Amino acid sequence: MKAAVYHAPHAPLRIEELDIDEPLAGEVLVRTAASGVCGSDAHIAEGFLPDVPVPMVLGHEAAGVVEAVGPGVDYVRRGDHVVICPSVWCGACEMCLRGHPYLCTQRPVRAPDQPPRLSRGGEPVHQFTNISSFAEQMLVAERATLKVDRELPLDSLALIGCGILTGLGAALRTARVEAGSTVAVFGAGGVGLAAVQGALIAGAATIISVDLSPRKLETAQQFGATHGVDASRVDPVEGIREIVPGGVDYAFEAIGNKTTAEQAFASIRDAGTAVLIGFFPAEARLDLPAADFISEKKLIGSRMGSNRFRLDMPAYIELYRQGRLKLDEMVTRRGKLEDVNEAFRAMREGEVTRTVLGFG
Ligand SMILES: [Zn+2]
Ligand SMILES: [Zn+2]
Repeated sequence: MKAAVYHAPHAPLRIEELDIDEPLAGEVLVRTAASGVCGSDAHIAEGFLPDVPVPMVLGHEAAGVVEAVGPGVDYVRRGDHVVICPSVWCGACEMCLRGHPYLCTQRPVRAPDQPPRLSRGGEPVHQFTNISSFAEQMLVAERATLKVDRELPLDSLALIGCGILTGLGAALRTARVEAGSTVAVFGAGGVGLAAVQGALIAGAATIISVDLSPRKLETAQQFGATHGVDASRVDPVEGIREIVPGGVDYAFEAIGNKTTAEQAFASIRDAGTAVLIGFFPAEARLDLPAADFISEKKLIGSRMGSNRFRLDMPAYIELYRQGRLKLDEMVTRRGKLEDVNEAFRAMREGEVTRTVLGFG
Protein backbone atom coordinates (compact mmCIF):
# COMPACT_ATOMS: atom_id res chain seq x y z
CA MET A 1 0.00 0.00 0.00
CA LYS A 2 1.04 3.61 -0.62
CA ALA A 3 1.98 5.91 2.24
CA ALA A 4 3.62 9.31 2.81
CA VAL A 5 6.81 8.66 4.79
CA TYR A 6 8.72 11.09 7.02
CA HIS A 7 12.50 10.62 6.95
CA ALA A 8 14.07 13.83 8.25
CA PRO A 9 13.08 17.31 9.50
CA HIS A 10 12.23 19.86 6.79
CA ALA A 11 12.45 17.24 4.02
CA PRO A 12 9.23 16.62 2.06
CA LEU A 13 7.35 13.42 2.93
CA ARG A 14 8.04 10.73 0.30
CA ILE A 15 5.31 8.60 -1.24
CA GLU A 16 6.46 4.99 -0.88
CA GLU A 17 5.08 1.46 -1.21
CA LEU A 18 4.93 -0.18 2.25
CA ASP A 19 3.86 -3.54 3.64
CA ILE A 20 1.12 -3.64 6.27
CA ASP A 21 0.69 -6.66 8.56
CA GLU A 22 -2.46 -8.68 9.26
CA PRO A 23 -4.40 -7.64 12.37
CA LEU A 24 -3.37 -9.47 15.55
CA ALA A 25 -5.57 -9.83 18.65
CA GLY A 26 -7.39 -6.57 19.43
CA GLU A 27 -6.40 -4.95 16.13
CA VAL A 28 -8.35 -3.68 13.14
CA LEU A 29 -7.25 -3.16 9.54
CA VAL A 30 -8.94 -0.08 8.07
CA ARG A 31 -9.09 1.11 4.45
CA THR A 32 -8.45 4.86 4.76
CA ALA A 33 -11.25 6.98 3.27
CA ALA A 34 -10.06 10.41 4.39
CA SER A 35 -7.30 11.97 6.45
CA GLY A 36 -7.16 15.53 7.67
CA VAL A 37 -3.79 17.28 7.62
CA CYS A 38 -3.31 18.55 11.18
CA GLY A 39 -0.81 21.04 12.58
CA SER A 40 0.84 18.29 14.63
CA ASP A 41 1.79 16.40 11.46
CA ALA A 42 3.41 19.56 10.11
CA HIS A 43 5.19 20.14 13.43
CA ILE A 44 6.73 16.66 13.29
CA ALA A 45 7.80 17.24 9.69
CA GLU A 46 9.44 20.48 10.85
CA GLY A 47 11.42 18.64 13.53
CA PHE A 48 9.53 19.88 16.66
CA LEU A 49 10.25 16.56 18.37
CA PRO A 50 13.84 15.72 17.44
CA ASP A 51 13.68 12.18 18.86
CA VAL A 52 10.83 10.71 16.83
CA PRO A 53 11.93 7.42 15.26
CA VAL A 54 12.28 7.34 11.47
CA PRO A 55 11.12 6.33 8.97
CA MET A 56 7.60 7.15 10.13
CA VAL A 57 4.22 7.51 8.45
CA LEU A 58 2.49 10.67 9.70
CA GLY A 59 -1.26 11.41 9.78
CA HIS A 60 -3.62 10.82 12.71
CA GLU A 61 -6.99 12.47 11.92
CA ALA A 62 -8.85 9.92 9.87
CA ALA A 63 -11.91 7.90 9.00
CA GLY A 64 -12.31 4.76 6.94
CA VAL A 65 -13.90 1.38 6.40
CA VAL A 66 -12.97 -1.77 8.32
CA GLU A 67 -11.38 -4.40 6.07
CA ALA A 68 -10.44 -7.06 8.60
CA VAL A 69 -10.40 -7.61 12.36
CA GLY A 70 -8.04 -9.60 14.55
CA PRO A 71 -8.96 -12.27 17.10
CA GLY A 72 -11.15 -11.07 19.96
CA VAL A 73 -12.45 -7.96 18.20
CA ASP A 74 -16.24 -7.78 18.47
CA TYR A 75 -16.81 -4.01 18.55
CA VAL A 76 -16.51 -3.63 14.76
CA ARG A 77 -16.59 -5.96 11.77
CA ARG A 78 -15.68 -5.84 8.10
CA GLY A 79 -17.55 -3.07 6.28
CA ASP A 80 -18.17 -0.90 9.35
CA HIS A 81 -17.38 2.81 9.02
CA VAL A 82 -15.06 4.14 11.70
CA VAL A 83 -13.47 7.36 12.91
CA ILE A 84 -9.94 6.82 14.22
CA CYS A 85 -8.66 8.53 17.39
CA PRO A 86 -5.08 8.84 18.71
CA SER A 87 -6.36 8.46 22.30
CA VAL A 88 -6.03 4.67 22.33
CA TRP A 89 -6.67 3.51 25.89
CA CYS A 90 -6.03 0.36 27.92
CA GLY A 91 -8.72 0.76 30.58
CA ALA A 92 -6.50 -0.60 33.35
CA CYS A 93 -3.60 1.79 33.99
CA GLU A 94 -3.69 4.44 36.70
CA MET A 95 -4.52 7.29 34.29
CA CYS A 96 -7.38 5.32 32.72
CA LEU A 97 -8.76 4.41 36.12
CA ARG A 98 -8.48 8.01 37.32
CA GLY A 99 -10.70 9.05 34.41
CA HIS A 100 -7.99 10.31 32.05
CA PRO A 101 -7.91 7.65 29.31
CA TYR A 102 -6.38 10.21 26.90
CA LEU A 103 -3.28 10.09 29.14
CA CYS A 104 -3.16 6.26 29.14
CA THR A 105 0.32 4.96 29.98
CA GLN A 106 -0.23 1.39 28.71
CA ARG A 107 -1.62 2.00 25.25
CA PRO A 108 -2.28 -1.27 23.43
CA VAL A 109 0.57 -1.36 20.92
CA ARG A 110 2.68 -4.22 19.59
CA ALA A 111 5.50 -5.54 21.78
CA PRO A 112 9.09 -5.28 20.49
CA ASP A 113 9.19 -9.04 19.81
CA GLN A 114 6.09 -8.90 17.59
CA PRO A 115 6.33 -8.08 13.86
CA PRO A 116 5.97 -4.36 13.08
CA ARG A 117 2.59 -3.15 11.86
CA LEU A 118 4.26 -1.31 8.97
CA SER A 119 7.45 -2.25 7.14
CA ARG A 120 9.41 -1.76 3.96
CA GLY A 121 11.71 -4.45 2.61
CA GLY A 122 11.49 -6.21 5.99
CA GLU A 123 12.60 -3.09 7.92
CA PRO A 124 10.12 -1.58 10.39
CA VAL A 125 8.40 1.70 9.57
CA HIS A 126 7.06 3.55 12.60
CA GLN A 127 3.49 4.72 13.18
CA PHE A 128 2.72 8.26 14.30
CA THR A 129 0.33 8.14 17.30
CA ASN A 130 -0.20 4.43 16.56
CA ILE A 131 -2.31 5.42 13.53
CA SER A 132 -0.39 6.65 10.43
CA SER A 133 -3.29 7.82 8.29
CA PHE A 134 -1.26 9.30 5.42
CA ALA A 135 -1.59 5.83 3.92
CA GLU A 136 -4.10 3.77 1.98
CA GLN A 137 -4.59 1.44 4.95
CA MET A 138 -4.24 1.76 8.72
CA LEU A 139 -3.57 -1.04 11.19
CA VAL A 140 -4.80 0.20 14.57
CA ALA A 141 -6.03 -1.01 17.95
CA GLU A 142 -9.75 -1.68 18.11
CA ARG A 143 -9.67 0.86 20.98
CA ALA A 144 -8.61 3.56 18.51
CA THR A 145 -11.90 3.26 16.61
CA LEU A 146 -15.39 4.69 16.91
CA LYS A 147 -18.11 3.02 14.84
CA VAL A 148 -20.27 5.56 12.96
CA ASP A 149 -23.42 5.51 10.80
CA ARG A 150 -22.74 4.70 7.17
CA GLU A 151 -24.70 7.63 5.75
CA LEU A 152 -22.41 10.24 7.35
CA PRO A 153 -19.63 11.68 5.13
CA LEU A 154 -16.29 10.19 6.16
CA ASP A 155 -14.26 13.17 4.91
CA SER A 156 -16.00 15.53 7.35
CA LEU A 157 -16.06 12.98 10.17
CA ALA A 158 -12.28 12.52 9.87
CA LEU A 159 -11.84 15.95 11.51
CA ILE A 160 -13.56 14.69 14.67
CA GLY A 161 -10.62 12.33 15.21
CA CYS A 162 -8.24 15.10 16.25
CA GLY A 163 -8.95 18.77 15.52
CA ILE A 164 -12.60 18.85 16.54
CA LEU A 165 -12.14 16.52 19.50
CA THR A 166 -9.21 18.66 20.70
CA GLY A 167 -10.70 22.14 20.26
CA LEU A 168 -14.28 21.35 21.21
CA GLY A 169 -13.15 19.22 24.14
CA ALA A 170 -10.81 21.95 25.44
CA ALA A 171 -13.83 24.25 25.81
CA LEU A 172 -16.46 21.71 26.85
CA ARG A 173 -14.48 19.16 28.86
CA THR A 174 -11.13 20.62 29.99
CA ALA A 175 -12.26 24.17 30.83
CA ARG A 176 -16.03 23.53 31.08
CA VAL A 177 -16.83 26.99 29.72
CA GLU A 178 -19.93 28.43 31.41
CA ALA A 179 -22.94 29.93 29.65
CA GLY A 180 -22.70 33.71 29.44
CA SER A 181 -18.94 33.77 29.89
CA THR A 182 -16.23 35.62 27.96
CA VAL A 183 -13.68 33.71 25.90
CA ALA A 184 -10.60 34.51 23.80
CA VAL A 185 -9.10 31.98 21.39
CA PHE A 186 -5.56 32.53 20.12
CA GLY A 187 -5.13 30.99 16.66
CA ALA A 188 -7.86 30.56 14.03
CA GLY A 189 -6.62 27.33 12.46
CA GLY A 190 -8.55 24.07 12.67
CA VAL A 191 -8.16 23.53 16.43
CA GLY A 192 -8.72 27.22 17.27
CA LEU A 193 -11.94 27.28 15.23
CA ALA A 194 -13.06 24.11 16.98
CA ALA A 195 -12.46 25.86 20.33
CA VAL A 196 -14.54 28.82 19.07
CA GLN A 197 -17.31 26.37 18.19
CA GLY A 198 -17.00 24.72 21.59
CA ALA A 199 -17.34 28.09 23.33
CA LEU A 200 -20.41 28.87 21.22
CA ILE A 201 -22.01 25.50 22.00
CA ALA A 202 -21.28 26.09 25.71
CA GLY A 203 -23.17 29.39 25.49
CA ALA A 204 -20.31 31.88 25.86
CA ALA A 205 -21.59 35.43 25.38
CA THR A 206 -18.37 36.93 24.03
CA ILE A 207 -15.97 34.93 21.84
CA ILE A 208 -12.88 36.80 20.67
CA SER A 209 -10.75 35.21 17.95
CA VAL A 210 -7.10 36.37 17.83
CA ASP A 211 -4.96 35.81 14.76
CA LEU A 212 -2.40 37.51 12.53
CA SER A 213 -4.54 37.01 9.43
CA PRO A 214 -7.62 39.23 8.82
CA ARG A 215 -8.97 36.53 6.49
CA LYS A 216 -8.83 33.89 9.23
CA LEU A 217 -10.53 36.29 11.65
CA GLU A 218 -13.37 36.64 9.16
CA THR A 219 -13.60 32.85 8.95
CA ALA A 220 -13.72 32.65 12.76
CA GLN A 221 -16.84 34.84 12.75
CA GLN A 222 -18.57 32.26 10.52
CA PHE A 223 -17.88 29.69 13.26
CA GLY A 224 -19.24 31.79 16.11
CA ALA A 225 -16.63 34.40 17.07
CA THR A 226 -18.34 37.62 18.13
CA HIS A 227 -15.14 39.69 17.82
CA GLY A 228 -11.79 39.51 16.07
CA VAL A 229 -8.45 40.93 17.23
CA ASP A 230 -5.88 41.34 14.48
CA ALA A 231 -2.59 40.68 16.29
CA SER A 232 -0.64 41.94 13.27
CA ARG A 233 -1.97 45.42 13.99
CA VAL A 234 -2.65 45.67 17.73
CA ASP A 235 -1.31 44.17 20.93
CA PRO A 236 -3.73 41.26 21.43
CA VAL A 237 -3.88 41.62 25.23
CA GLU A 238 -4.85 45.29 24.89
CA GLY A 239 -7.26 44.40 22.08
CA ILE A 240 -8.98 41.81 24.26
CA ARG A 241 -9.12 44.09 27.31
CA GLU A 242 -10.68 46.83 25.17
CA ILE A 243 -13.54 44.44 24.39
CA VAL A 244 -13.72 42.90 27.89
CA PRO A 245 -12.31 45.32 30.48
CA GLY A 246 -10.65 43.37 33.28
CA GLY A 247 -9.94 40.37 31.04
CA VAL A 248 -11.77 37.30 29.80
CA ASP A 249 -12.98 34.34 31.84
CA TYR A 250 -11.19 31.84 29.59
CA ALA A 251 -8.35 32.17 27.08
CA PHE A 252 -7.35 29.27 24.83
CA GLU A 253 -3.98 29.06 23.08
CA ALA A 254 -4.27 26.86 20.01
CA ILE A 255 -0.93 27.60 18.35
CA GLY A 256 1.90 26.22 20.49
CA ASN A 257 3.85 29.47 20.70
CA LYS A 258 5.60 30.96 23.77
CA THR A 259 4.52 34.54 23.07
CA THR A 260 0.85 33.76 22.46
CA ALA A 261 0.76 31.44 25.49
CA GLU A 262 2.03 34.29 27.67
CA GLN A 263 -0.46 36.67 26.03
CA ALA A 264 -3.30 34.22 26.69
CA PHE A 265 -2.40 34.20 30.39
CA ALA A 266 -2.13 38.01 30.42
CA SER A 267 -5.60 38.36 28.86
CA ILE A 268 -7.59 36.55 31.57
CA ARG A 269 -9.31 38.24 34.52
CA ASP A 270 -8.51 37.48 38.16
CA ALA A 271 -9.57 33.88 38.87
CA GLY A 272 -9.79 33.30 35.11
CA THR A 273 -8.40 30.29 33.28
CA ALA A 274 -5.86 30.13 30.45
CA VAL A 275 -5.80 26.81 28.60
CA LEU A 276 -2.85 25.64 26.51
CA ILE A 277 -4.04 23.38 23.69
CA GLY A 278 -1.15 23.96 21.29
CA PHE A 279 1.68 21.56 20.57
CA PHE A 280 4.91 23.20 21.84
CA PRO A 281 8.46 22.38 20.78
CA ALA A 282 10.24 20.21 23.38
CA GLU A 283 12.56 23.03 24.47
CA ALA A 284 9.84 25.72 24.85
CA ARG A 285 9.64 27.57 28.21
CA LEU A 286 7.16 30.18 29.46
CA ASP A 287 7.91 33.40 31.34
CA LEU A 288 4.95 34.41 33.53
CA PRO A 289 4.47 36.96 36.35
CA ALA A 290 4.34 34.64 39.37
CA ALA A 291 2.55 37.31 41.44
CA ASP A 292 -0.55 36.89 39.23
CA PHE A 293 -1.24 33.48 40.76
CA ILE A 294 -2.23 35.08 44.08
CA SER A 295 -5.23 36.45 42.13
CA GLU A 296 -6.18 32.82 41.44
CA LYS A 297 -5.36 33.04 37.76
CA LYS A 298 -5.09 29.54 36.44
CA LEU A 299 -2.95 28.10 33.66
CA ILE A 300 -3.91 24.58 32.63
CA GLY A 301 -3.06 22.17 29.85
CA SER A 302 -5.47 20.31 27.63
CA ARG A 303 -4.63 17.08 25.85
CA MET A 304 -6.89 15.93 22.99
CA GLY A 305 -9.86 17.70 24.58
CA SER A 306 -9.64 15.60 27.78
CA ASN A 307 -11.62 13.04 25.83
CA ARG A 308 -13.32 9.78 26.51
CA PHE A 309 -13.79 9.54 22.79
CA ARG A 310 -16.34 6.72 22.65
CA LEU A 311 -18.62 8.97 24.75
CA ASP A 312 -17.64 12.39 23.40
CA MET A 313 -17.49 11.73 19.65
CA PRO A 314 -21.07 10.43 19.36
CA ALA A 315 -22.22 13.59 21.17
CA TYR A 316 -20.20 15.80 18.81
CA ILE A 317 -21.54 13.87 15.80
CA GLU A 318 -25.10 14.47 17.05
CA LEU A 319 -24.35 18.22 17.27
CA TYR A 320 -23.10 18.00 13.66
CA ARG A 321 -26.28 16.19 12.56
CA GLN A 322 -28.37 18.94 14.14
CA GLY A 323 -26.34 21.65 12.39
CA ARG A 324 -24.96 22.99 15.68
CA LEU A 325 -21.39 21.87 14.94
CA LYS A 326 -19.93 22.93 11.61
CA LEU A 327 -17.72 20.27 10.10
CA ASP A 328 -18.22 20.44 6.32
CA GLU A 329 -17.33 24.14 6.42
CA MET A 330 -13.98 23.33 8.08
CA VAL A 331 -12.84 21.35 5.03
CA THR A 332 -11.64 24.15 2.77
CA ARG A 333 -9.42 22.09 0.47
CA ARG A 334 -9.34 18.50 -0.73
CA GLY A 335 -6.44 16.57 -2.14
CA LYS A 336 -4.86 13.17 -2.67
CA LEU A 337 -2.06 11.51 -0.72
CA GLU A 338 0.47 13.03 -3.15
CA ASP A 339 -0.72 16.52 -2.14
CA VAL A 340 0.38 16.18 1.49
CA ASN A 341 3.47 18.41 1.21
CA GLU A 342 1.42 21.07 -0.58
CA ALA A 343 -1.15 20.79 2.24
CA PHE A 344 1.61 21.53 4.79
CA ARG A 345 2.62 24.59 2.79
CA ALA A 346 -0.98 25.84 2.49
CA MET A 347 -1.42 25.42 6.25
CA ARG A 348 1.79 27.34 7.01
CA GLU A 349 0.67 30.17 4.72
CA GLY A 350 -2.75 30.29 6.40
CA GLU A 351 -4.56 29.50 3.12
CA VAL A 352 -6.72 26.69 4.52
CA THR A 353 -8.74 25.78 7.59
CA ARG A 354 -8.24 22.08 6.87
CA THR A 355 -7.05 20.09 3.90
CA VAL A 356 -8.55 16.62 3.77
CA LEU A 357 -6.79 13.96 1.72
CA GLY A 358 -9.12 11.49 0.00
CA PHE A 359 -8.23 7.94 -1.00
CA GLY A 360 -9.62 6.31 -4.14
ZN1 LIG B 1 -3.94 16.49 15.26
ZN1 LIG C 1 -4.54 3.10 30.29
